[in-house]
Amino acid sequence: MPRPIEALIHQPALAHNLHRARECAPDAQVFAIVKANAYGHGIDRVFDAFRAADGFALLDLDEAQRIRDLGWRGPILLLEGCFEPRDLELCSRLRLWHAVHSEQQIDWLAMHKTHEPHRVFLKLNSGMNRLGFTPSGFRAAWTRLNALPQVDEISLMTHFSDADGPKGIDRQLAVFQEATADLPGERSLSNSAAVLRHSERAGVRADWVRAGIMSYGSAPDFPEHDIRHWNLQPTMTLRSKVLAVQALQPGDTVGYGSTFVADRPMRIGTVACGYADGYPRHAGTGTPVLVGGQRTRTVGRVSMDMLAVDLTDLPQLGAGSEVTLWGQGPNGSMLSIDEVAAAAGTIGYELMCALARRVPVHLD
Ligand code: PLP
Repeated sequence: MPRPIEALIHQPALAHNLHRARECAPDAQVFAIVKANAYGHGIDRVFDAFRAADGFALLDLDEAQRIRDLGWRGPILLLEGCFEPRDLELCSRLRLWHAVHSEQQIDWLAMHKTHEPHRVFLKLNSGMNRLGFTPSGFRAAWTRLNALPQVDEISLMTHFSDADGPKGIDRQLAVFQEATADLPGERSLSNSAAVLRHSERAGVRADWVRAGIMSYGSAPDFPEHDIRHWNLQPTMTLRSKVLAVQALQPGDTVGYGSTFVADRPMRIGTVACGYADGYPRHAGTGTPVLVGGQRTRTVGRVSMDMLAVDLTDLPQLGAGSEVTLWGQGPNGSMLSIDEVAAAAGTIGYELMCALARRVPVHLD
């Protein structure tokens, strides 16, 4: 029998969450963000559910090629643009839209011998300080691009750093509006957090929203809000089984380092899931987990291939019981990936992207 661990990708949930982006930004077009192999879900596995999007946005040319191979004829945006001049060839051939965030990328375009003119998304650094032209250099960059025969359409974009938290978007929104005032072209500002929290504000939805993590059933502003609050559904389930049960006496310990010490008689289930499967090793004792759809906690350190769960108050469960590490459990139960991530000091994004190759993945 194979090791009883698997991941499920829930297509109805992907479609539902994408639809939520539409509901929150009704007059905007929606890019489904599929970078990092669709946030660890697999581009091929999300494609059908995300066909309802208006476009796909991603980073790598091979991911763009894959989307075209799957039959998508609509917009595809390279969120960071080209990484070297020869990427422009493929942009032409695959009809990719691409971000332009640096003078060097404009130089490459100016030298590019293209038959089909390019649509570019000129990126403003409105405060994230990651990529983009400064507010003072933005207009000059636009003017330079506008003069190139290689470019036929210029859209304007920026990216928020704090749409999920108390700092909010005021400052960056004002910077964007000032830097782009009077410039023609479609606009794209919002990531998931902006779509969910700020889409009522003028100018935030704009022409295109870029819905990433919300489409994958994770709340960008957890723990302030969870996915139920935003009416999102988990799209990835990691599940396994209890391999063995240990009876502990007070003073007995669990796992490497003996970090967990029983203070009463306990039943501990050993689960076929460890950090080599993508479960975070930093998830210490107390991380929530579902066994047979019932909520309990992990105990002790996560090992490479196994972890331990507390079955003391679940006497009817034992070897062979189903364990939901995150996602959709039996009988309508649910454990959001955000809760597990928070217990490990990280975010849902990281856990999805880190699902290990050795875990078999099935579509649901
Ligand atoms: N737009 C850009 C430029 C991004 O880099 C990202 C992701 O980091 C997104 C949109 C999607 O963000 P989120 O997954 O938070 O919705």
